[in-house]
Amino acid sequence: MYKTTGFKRAFVLILVSAVLVAAGSVWYWKQVTQKLSQDARETIISASRELAENFDRLLGTEFQVLSSIAVSLDQPGALKDQQKLMNYLARQNKRNAFTLTGYQDAQGRAIFSDGHVLQDFLSAQAVEEVYARGHYISDRRKGPFSGQDILVFAVPMPAQQGQKQNGVVFATQTIAFYSQALAANALHGEGLSFVLSRDGNIIIAYPRAVYDNLFVAGEHSSFDRGRSALRLQQELSRGESGWTGYTLRGQHRFASYYPLDYNDWYAFAVLPTKSVADRAQTLVLLSLVLCLSIIAILGVLLLFILRMQSQSSRALYRMGFVDPVTEADNLNAFRFKFPRAAKAFKEKNLPYAFVMVNINRFKALNDIYGFEQGDQVLKQVCGALQGCLREGELLCRSSADIFLLLLACPDRAELGKRVDEVALRAGRYCQNSGECLPLSLTCGIYLIDEEVPFYIMMDRANLAWASAKQHAGQTCAFYDEQSRRQIVTEKRIESSMDQALRDGEFKIYLQPKCDFKTGRTCSAEALVRWLQPQKGMIPPDQFIPVFEKNGFVLKLDMFMLEETLRLLKRWKEEGKPVVSVGVNFSRLHLQDPRFIEVLAQTADKYGVEHRLLEVELTESVVFGNVDLMKQVIDGLHEKGFSVAMDDFGSGYSSLNVLKNLDFDCVKLDKEFLVRGEGNPRMRQIISGLVRMIKDLGSGVVAEGVETAEQAEFLSRIGCDLAQGYLFSRPLPPQEFEQRLLDERDKK
Ligand code: C2E
Ligand code: CA
Ligand code: CA
Repeated sequence: MYKTTGFKRAFVLILVSAVLVAAGSVWYWKQVTQKLSQDARETIISASRELAENFDRLLGTEFQVLSSIAVSLDQPGALKDQQKLMNYLARQNKRNAFTLTGYQDAQGRAIFSDGHVLQDFLSAQAVEEVYARGHYISDRRKGPFSGQDILVFAVPMPAQQGQKQNGVVFATQTIAFYSQALAANALHGEGLSFVLSRDGNIIIAYPRAVYDNLFVAGEHSSFDRGRSALRLQQELSRGESGWTGYTLRGQHRFASYYPLDYNDWYAFAVLPTKSVADRAQTLVLLSLVLCLSIIAILGVLLLFILRMQSQSSRALYRMGFVDPVTEADNLNAFRFKFPRAAKAFKEKNLPYAFVMVNINRFKALNDIYGFEQGDQVLKQVCGALQGCLREGELLCRSSADIFLLLLACPDRAELGKRVDEVALRAGRYCQNSGECLPLSLTCGIYLIDEEVPFYIMMDRANLAWASAKQHAGQTCAFYDEQSRRQIVTEKRIESSMDQALRDGEFKIYLQPKCDFKTGRTCSAEALVRWLQPQKGMIPPDQFIPVFEKNGFVLKLDMFMLEETLRLLKRWKEEGKPVVSVGVNFSRLHLQDPRFIEVLAQTADKYGVEHRLLEVELTESVVFGNVDLMKQVIDGLHEKGFSVAMDDFGSGYSSLNVLKNLDFDCVKLDKEFLVRGEGNPRMRQIISGLVRMIKDLGSGVVAEGVETAEQAEFLSRIGCDLAQGYLFSRPLPPQEFEQRLLDERDKK
């Protein structure tokens, strides 16, 4: 679940970034192209200026050289000897790397360094220009002897006195030579460099020009930005510098122009925009590759992180939501899934129940077989429970040996049956050897009937479980308010009992055992009362069973024993009437081998005669273990205590048992009386029983005598004493003492 969403998210992320990169690249492409165009424009503009400057410098140098030759020829007689002049010119020509160097005199006779002589090599108009400006450069023309395209430079000879025109010094240089000079400005071989005249005639070009005139070539070209060829022509004719774009034979170009100092010429630099576009493309492509590489690396990184994350979240999920022993859901997972599952049941209008399943005596199982086997038990039980789940139902191991289930409950009785069956099926542990042990499971069911928080549902299922546990042989119990209250009360009792004992909240009451005829008090029974400051008196029926369960009754009985002994001691000391008192002892005391010894020592501590103490033991105890009981009774008799069998007739009364045990007295349970009421047959049985008890040598006390009629019957059949409201309720010690005093006085 976690993994797929993570990878889905990563995929979307990568997709989005790819789209962004594509959009970004287009934008970037435009930006780069624009920027490069601008750069190219700036480069081209400065290229034409540089070209102009360089070319001006070059031409300037040519003129300086020519001028220095002119000056050197201005010697008397230097021009006289033609042969000498020629030799001199040849030397200069060689040194200065002109094609030819020459001198043309005032009459138009040109003498060349290679020995040629030509009339009017420089036209009169050109010579005129030389004198007028001090220098001259021809347009492109054919060399006189080689037929190569050349330029001709000329400077005047320094003027002699009175003589205005003294001839000119000239030199020729091939166009190819200057073309090479332009190469330096050709923008790394991508561009073109021209020197042109204002009317567009190309004088020098690098590389070789394919047309002679820019504007004539214009029939194949078009100029951009509204600059018509005409406007460019006008700008050129005005000697202005600038730039333009134009298309020639389908190829777009940038061009810039800058005027030269000589001959109204222009330096014209051209750069095809294709090279700009190519550069932009390369740059964008490089950036794109870089971007994509970064995305790819990031993507791989992201996937790696996600993988790690999904691994660690899986580990975290296991840690937080999976029970390590059974691999089933743990309580967290159950709580997490519960609301959705409950909602689904609600939507189907299907009642549902919260069930708690507990393995009884699991701790003992662990102790006996070890933890490893204990884990196996849990696994098997869990597996069996899981196998019983139906669609939409949940299970978890909540802790130790407790499993929680959410089950559908179309019908209460049916659910009870189903849980019983589930408990039966899951209640089996088979070892590797194939040997199977039965396990006992107890379940608490809370039929969810109201919206309560999860912990309350758990609490209620737990209460139901506790109430099932109380009833031996019962596998499951439903939660109901009454059992809840009872359990809550028990919990409250348990939590306050120790403090109550310390605070003296337990009081001794005495109920007289009376003579039927006279009603006189012959003996008494000590009964405990719990006087709680806030709640008043709590009857023993409410707390004794709880204390029996948790063992506190051992302490309480000893307390009651001491209270009884204290009273007996005081009566004796104060010279009051003394009767023997019966004290109730829980069956738990019989497990203590020192019980009789402690009893005797305590009585001795108060200096009370042992015959004044009657030990009341309930019938159920006797039934449990006759031999032990016999030992105890004998032991008590040895110490001089008398022993009464309490509650005879409340359980499985067995005369046979009675026969083997030497009780001093048998107390007939009040239930017996109730059952005998208006039931002649029952009365007969009671009468028979009493007779037999008496025959065995025991006294008989009838408990719960409330009516005169009962008293009459019991007395008639031979009961010795009556303990009941007809004679007296259990009394506080003071009232009991007063009763005894009154009786003595009456005598
Ligand atoms: P029990 O030993 O059978 O005590 C007799 C019970 O019958 C007393 O109830 C007493 O009040 C009640 N009773 C006496 N006459 C009548 C009557 O005419 N009608 C009716 N309906 N009841 C009558 P109590 O005091 O509530 O004690 C209940 C039980 O609690 C006792 O039954 C005894 O089993 C136990 N218990 C009381 N005190 C102690 C004690 O100190 N230690 C132990 N282990 N158990 C005690
Ligand atoms: Ca009793
Ligand atoms: Ca009794």
